[in-house]
Amino acid sequence: MSNTDSIDLSLLENSHAFLNEAVAKVLVATSDIRHWQFAILNLVQSLELSLKAALSAIHPILVYEDIDNPKNSLSSIRAIQRLENPKIGGFTFSDRDKTRIRSAIKVRNEVTHSGFNFTGQHAAANFFEIFAFVSDFQRRRLNTDVADLIPSENFQQLLQIRRLLDELVLRAKNRIAEEEVDGKFVWACPNCGEDTFVIEDGADICYVCSHAEAVVECAHCEQLNFESAMESFFESLDTDYDEGRTVMHNSYGYSNFEACPDCVSKIMRDIQEQRVQEEFHRLEEEYHHRNA
Ligand SMILES: [Zn+2]
Ligand SMILES: [Zn+2]
Repeated sequence: MSNTDSIDLSLLENSHAFLNEAVAKVLVATSDIRHWQFAILNLVQSLELSLKAALSAIHPILVYEDIDNPKNSLSSIRAIQRLENPKIGGFTFSDRDKTRIRSAIKVRNEVTHSGFNFTGQHAAANFFEIFAFVSDFQRRRLNTDVADLIPSENFQQLLQIRRLLDELVLRAKNRIAEEEVDGKFVWACPNCGEDTFVIEDGADICYVCSHAEAVVECAHCEQLNFESAMESFFESLDTDYDEGRTVMHNSYGYSNFEACPDCVSKIMRDIQEQRVQEEFHRLEEEYHHRNA
């Protein structure tokens, strides 16, 4: 599968060019923080091209969203699903990798669509998380050792910045220990991936990268979750849009339409079952009516 002969070279070479550019931007960013955003933009571009290169190695048509109508190339989330499909790629991605990729794409979109404002630590942590994924993916799936691609002096400097980040992680862990934060209040940070996100007393902040994010309770299972992980199932209910107002026809017994990912899938199944039941009763009544 990772036979270089069958990999679309333009995708692979572009993924390498963007990776190199990303590293170059990091080195400038150490003196001018604004360059972090270009580093991340280039890195996410490299990530997306890497996923496509791996799909293209299986079959070139697989880089399109709709293989029957090959016009638009697919999103990274779709690319991962396809690579994971046992009948297509059979790759495995850890939950952590998937979270990392989703977060990278989110950051990229924020950088592209809004005046993105972040601290150097926040960006660096994010960068190294994605960089680690891309280099691992390039090595395992695309026969490329990224250390061979990047000019060695750049690579050395990159490692120094990485060591600085390790130092930050160490300090954050010491702070957590000093403050005697209970382990159950320390989560993996959705931005930098380090186990340094503290939710005790509503702190809701990462001690390494200063990423702040609200933590909310799921109304359906009472578990705490990152607000960004919560999903809405409003679209699955029976609603109509009328004169600028959304009219609810059937909420299937739910009043809070946000849920954690675990609950959302259960709720969707429940709604589906209720729908089938209702349809069954309707048909039954119709039958009785006709035969009365
Ligand atoms: Zn963090
Ligand atoms: Zn829940």
